Amino acid sequence: MRAISKSFGTFLAVDNVTLDIRPNEFFTLLGPSGCGKTTLLRMIAGFELPTEGQVLLDDRDISSLLPNQRPVNTVFQNYALFPHLTVAENIGFGLKMLGKPKADIAAVVARMLKLVHLDGRGDNPVTQLSGGQQQRVALARALAPQPKVLLLDEPLSALDLKLRKSMQIELKRLQAETGITFVFVTHDQEEALTMSDRIAVMSQGQVRQVGSAREIYDRPADRFVADFIGETNFLEGTLAGSEGSMASVRLKAGGIIRAGLPEGGAPKADLTVVVRPEHAELAAAGSGTFDGTLGEVIYFGTDTHFHVRLDDGGTFIVRRQNTRSGAAAPETGARVGVRLGEGAAQILKD
Ligand code: ATP
Repeated sequence: MRAISKSFGTFLAVDNVTLDIRPNEFFTLLGPSGCGKTTLLRMIAGFELPTEGQVLLDDRDISSLLPNQRPVNTVFQNYALFPHLTVAENIGFGLKMLGKPKADIAAVVARMLKLVHLDGRGDNPVTQLSGGQQQRVALARALAPQPKVLLLDEPLSALDLKLRKSMQIELKRLQAETGITFVFVTHDQEEALTMSDRIAVMSQGQVRQVGSAREIYDRPADRFVADFIGETNFLEGTLAGSEGSMASVRLKAGGIIRAGLPEGGAPKADLTVVVRPEHAELAAAGSGTFDGTLGEVIYFGTDTHFHVRLDDGGTFIVRRQNTRSGAAAPETGARVGVRLGEGAAQILKD
């Protein structure tokens, strides 16, 4: 996508987005409700025309093609199956519309039924299937014409948590087996992190960062991304020096830490550093990177969260995995140190 914008009246829903989605990747558009993910997807599908910019596929400008002229198919949240047709008729529908011979359609439908693990269910009325099975039919129907790109608009949001988890694995498998490029829309960060090769994080019509789950989690580019994905500590400080991709930061809460620089170098003298709670550990006061006073200690089963009140008034959360032997925790009110692991701290660009 090249410099794509979409306005509805005076409202700018998608604001100058340029994205390169690679062949055969599981690519996710992630962002809060209303950030423009669906509008962007609808422009790839051709249901919506960009106000500005181009949609390119294999270097060909497809911006002005009708939806059915694009080698692209969509799976919707509500499945949109034909209730009066059987499973097989639903899956073969697109191929029939393309005028394919009956024998060819039957062969593809049989292959698709196998692919989505619904062998033997082809003659069932589609209404007799469970929600998860209907979702598989919707996927098979969209994959049957072998599109180059499959667009998925929050396809799992109608399923309960357990089914949703198993369909996440199923979708990963389908993408890998078919080799078709998947563009997946979700507002669920965990879903995006577990499924995607790469993620574009969106806010207010703009793409804030593109990268692998690891890159986005470990090196969030800005405050929005850091805050939207997972739990994060924000530390205020000033730049004390830099070398290559690393910098020294003097924290307002006391102590000097080494932190990764954002792309393009340090933004300004006053800056914000982010640290994930699991990338820090408690230490004896005076022996860590900085000190504070232990506040709430919250037990979560798999891990425990320690809230450390910093001397600049902020709070820093340390997450420790619980073990059977369970190391003794300091008492609330005690002075403690916080030690940061190598590479734990990242400077934001805003
Ligand atoms: P959700 O997850 O809630 O669907 P989204 O990130 O997919 O959110 P979009 O559906 O792309 O967001 O909508 C982006 C913004 O554009 C919203 O504020 C929405 O109200 C607005 N919008 C979308 N379609 C239209 C339309 N046809 N006319 C006017 N405004 C629209």
